[in-house]
Amino acid sequence: MDNSFKTSGFPELDEWGKEILDRQYREYGYPVNQNIALRDFYKWYVDNGLDVVSLNNVGDPFSEGATLLSSHKFEREVLQFFAPLYDFDPDDIWGMVTNSGTDGNNHGIYFGVKYLKSKSDKAPILYVSDEAHYSNMRLADLQNIELRLVPSDAMGFMIPEKFEELLDPTRPCLIVYAIGSTFKGVIDDQDKINAIIAKYPEMPVYRHLDAALFGGYLPFTKHRGIISRNKMHYDSISVSGHKFFGMDEPAGIFLTTKTVFESQTSYNIPYLNDNMKMISCSRSALSVLKFWWLIKKVGYDKWAQQAEQMLENTKYLQKSLESIGYLCWTNELSNTVFLTRPPRIMVAKYALPIEYEERFGGDLAHIVVMQHVTKERIDAFVEDLRIHIIPEKQQEVNERTLKAIKAQNLKRFF
Ligand SMILES: *Cc1c(COP(=O)(O)O)cnc(C)c1O
Repeated sequence: MDNSFKTSGFPELDEWGKEILDRQYREYGYPVNQNIALRDFYKWYVDNGLDVVSLNNVGDPFSEGATLLSSHKFEREVLQFFAPLYDFDPDDIWGMVTNSGTDGNNHGIYFGVKYLKSKSDKAPILYVSDEAHYSNMRLADLQNIELRLVPSDAMGFMIPEKFEELLDPTRPCLIVYAIGSTFKGVIDDQDKINAIIAKYPEMPVYRHLDAALFGGYLPFTKHRGIISRNKMHYDSISVSGHKFFGMDEPAGIFLTTKTVFESQTSYNIPYLNDNMKMISCSRSALSVLKFWWLIKKVGYDKWAQQAEQMLENTKYLQKSLESIGYLCWTNELSNTVFLTRPPRIMVAKYALPIEYEERFGGDLAHIVVMQHVTKERIDAFVEDLRIHIIPEKQQEVNERTLKAIKAQNLKRFF
């Protein structure tokens, strides 16, 4: 790769480019698929001179936009591909290709607040587990609504009893489910929490699924019921495009129903021929084209294979770590393995996010097994870890961790 690297004329940029290519496949800590299949797209795009056009998907993808230079048609097709995967009624969707998972959460929470305000004069409360992605807490702050953080158990599940204690049934309930929490990769138990919500039929409710990572692969497995709107009756979902699907830059999808969309504040914007209900004005047309391309070139069958392979590799990583006596944990249907924190050199080399958790004896880190984390790379990683472990130190860590675990009644996975 190095010899064929073409110079830009800017040495510092070339240096950066080479470094990035060297690091790419050591990125094990963040949930981003590094197997990108967009080269043919870029070639088609540049070869045909489209690279001189400034495209923009300003406006609602479902209404006739004012500009000539959008890819709205392809945006609708992307959404129509995904709608049935989450069991939305194809005739009853509204959505868009977003800037990111956070952008989708932003719309989910904003739309949720407005929807609930259309049902009740009382201010809604947002409930989310303390293991969920921080964007949900940030976005509650942005909406200036009351946030009730529901404590999670050691494996990361929102605790139903705590939710019930915190629930104020006299006020509208905006609940965000973590469909894959950030650090421990846990899927909130929607059935249990929904059963509590069902005790208060008078309480207006809006459910948003934060499914940034897991919402990518679950639809392709036999566990797709977890993100089925028919089964779980949620109102909106956000999924990242660059996590599972192999987009090469931040993107995502947001889906909701027409009912929710129609309950939003209307701002009639004549110069866009539009009734603008979403937050962003200009949006990327190029990322829509790339997403559409991936659907055509990778598509359902390959994504299904990748989903299966990823979950198999996750088990393989867990077994490999256990085979060298290394303590680690994985939640069901998760591709995230969390482990006692490896030596600093390993944390830096593989970009492993860190956490501190008394319930596991202290220092932790995690690995997210995306498509590029193959069995060969797992073998190399585990060998690298093994040679960096100082046996006496590790034994001390293991004893402390096991003692901390024993002190609790962890029903699951032990
Ligand atoms: C990654 C992630 C987010 C943030 O998504 P971005 O696409 O990075 O904005 C939100 N929630 C969960 C559960 C995530 O895993």
